Amino acid sequence: MKYKAPTGTNDILPEQIPLWRQVEETAREMCGRYGFREIRTPIFEYTPLFIRSIGETTDIVEKEMYTFSSKKESKESSIALRPELTAPVVRAYLEHHLDREQKFQKLYYIGPLFRHERPQRGRTRQFHQLGVEALGSDSPLVDVEIMELAVSFFKGLGISDCVLKINSIGCPKCRSDYREVLKKYFAGHQKTLCDNCRNRYDRNVFRILDCKNQQCYQIAAKASAINDYLCPDCQSHFNRVLEGLKKNGIAYKSDQHLVRGFDYYTKTIFEITHSALGSQDALCGGGRYDNLIKELGGPDLGAAGWAVGLERTIMVLGSLKIKPPGQLTEPPAIFVVSVTPEMVEESFVLLSELRKKGIRASMDYENRSLKAQMRQANRCQAAGVVILGPDELKKQVVKLKQMDSGEESEIKRQDLFDLLSKKHMV
Ligand code: AMP
Repeated sequence: MKYKAPTGTNDILPEQIPLWRQVEETAREMCGRYGFREIRTPIFEYTPLFIRSIGETTDIVEKEMYTFSSKKESKESSIALRPELTAPVVRAYLEHHLDREQKFQKLYYIGPLFRHERPQRGRTRQFHQLGVEALGSDSPLVDVEIMELAVSFFKGLGISDCVLKINSIGCPKCRSDYREVLKKYFAGHQKTLCDNCRNRYDRNVFRILDCKNQQCYQIAAKASAINDYLCPDCQSHFNRVLEGLKKNGIAYKSDQHLVRGFDYYTKTIFEITHSALGSQDALCGGGRYDNLIKELGGPDLGAAGWAVGLERTIMVLGSLKIKPPGQLTEPPAIFVVSVTPEMVEESFVLLSELRKKGIRASMDYENRSLKAQMRQANRCQAAGVVILGPDELKKQVVKLKQMDSGEESEIKRQDLFDLLSKKHMV
């Protein structure tokens, strides 16, 4: 095989589509139920949007963005394939003044994104996310609402055994004290940290907490957690979120060492994991990002959101042997068969008439024998076959064969549609 899909990308083949649709339809239904409206933003954005929002020292910005320059050589002309969608959604919210129309906006998206990561199970370079962003509110109930929505989405698909882990990383005020604590702690471990983390020590010490290197991870696990350094406001917000989860029967685990790979998060952060996924076990990641709207040039408004990885969701559905309720392939209701090759054009007219009536119909274009066409109709699971030959054409009739009973009848062409409906074949 000469041409292959690029490393870290996947084709989604027709037989997989019903499951994808099931996931997408559940997503749309759930998001609608919780009052979120769909938004679609471009696949690429100007690069500074991501640098500003995700953070210059994050893995995504440092190593994983697909950037290219458009023709003009200004900074603005650097383009990046979107590595996440929170920043684009906030950008669109501000650019189109949705905040002026109504400050509190609940938006969701479904689409592909791109990160130049080392591909492995559950980690690809192009993948799809369902995400929600609730923009314009500080309320802890918004945090609760979006977590409940994520859990309901998974439950709606039949995934009920996932784990919601939650933490608070406070605001810049509480983090400045915590930064000093971390600096002191990691100073004693500088020699054992990986090269990357030694670099992070000066640039952004919080990132060491998110290092995937085993040695760094173990050192980071023993660092004191931010929870002890939360300011009263952040502490009270966090308490109210946990209260809300409890009151609404949403099970969670507090995880004081949970961190996220984006700089924009404040206060609540969370992750939803599933044991079927192995080492890349996160299905969903999210949290509050109270400073991002302002950072991107808008008013000082709070916001929160999450993103679910759809490939991983599909992997979990596979491991639980959950199949879409509908048929895997949608067979044509009717297969039109030409008695002789000369009839192909006339059969095509008939085929086209059926389709215009809204009937799923198909035929053969390869001048196969009558027998071969019947076999083909069988293989594609058509409910009925409509046979057209020179005699039928002359008499303006067709032969109809019902595939389940084998029953054959000759009927007037103009009565075909009514008969198919009466027999519940279409
Ligand atoms: P993030 O945007 O990094 O918070 O990720 C949110 C979710 O997207 C994760 O919990 C995963 O389910 C999924 N995800 C993130 N990165 C990848 C990737 N490289 N390949 C597939 N899924 C991913």
